[in-house]
Amino acid sequence: MSLMARLLDFFGDADGESEAYQCIRCGGTFDREYYECPDCGVSHAVVRTTDE
Ligand SMILES: [Zn+2]
Repeated sequence: MSLMARLLDFFGDADGESEAYQCIRCGGTFDREYYECPDCGVSHAVVRTTDE
């Protein structure tokens, strides 16, 4: 694992609740729900992930 990947993993797990939402179109991950994906602009594409 690269140093950058380790840093991203550390910050991603900092609060245990980050990036709980993901766009099913572009795969972008977010820490809150969006009506439209901020990355690709598609409506109803951001869904809650269940990685617990
Ligand atoms: Zn998207």
